[in-house]
Amino acid sequence: MIDFGYGLTPSATLKIENVANPAFEELHKLEPDVSKCIACGSCAASCSAGCFTEMNLRRVILSLQRGREKETLPMLRHCMLCGKCQLVCPRGINTRHLILSIGKVYKLEDTVL
Ligand code: SF4
Ligand code: SF4
Repeated sequence: MIDFGYGLTPSATLKIENVANPAFEELHKLEPDVSKCIACGSCAASCSAGCFTEMNLRRVILSLQRGREKETLPMLRHCMLCGKCQLVCPRGINTRHLILSIGKVYKLEDTVL
């Protein structure tokens, strides 16, 4: 291995699979495909709502994985469930169904969900 003169110390390494995140585990049980997401951003690039609002499904999924849902869940109120993101997802994730499941697990009541 090449020595660049710097590196990650063990204390700076975060193993995301070891972080307790019960809400995301519940979502994963309901919607196993959420773990297929490779954060490519195709959904965000094609989003009908993303042109005019902060809606970004890629960011929502990443924040849920990290237990930081408060930062991005409000974005979902802009989602129109049009399904364009589903058409372009290279992993074949049923994103509309995923968004509805997120609404159920995280109890979003003031959105279109
Ligand atoms: S298009 Fe699919 S794989 Fe890519 S970020 Fe969106 S949900 Fe994840
Ligand atoms: S279903 Fe929602 S997240 Fe997907 S493209 Fe339509 S508005 Fe965007």
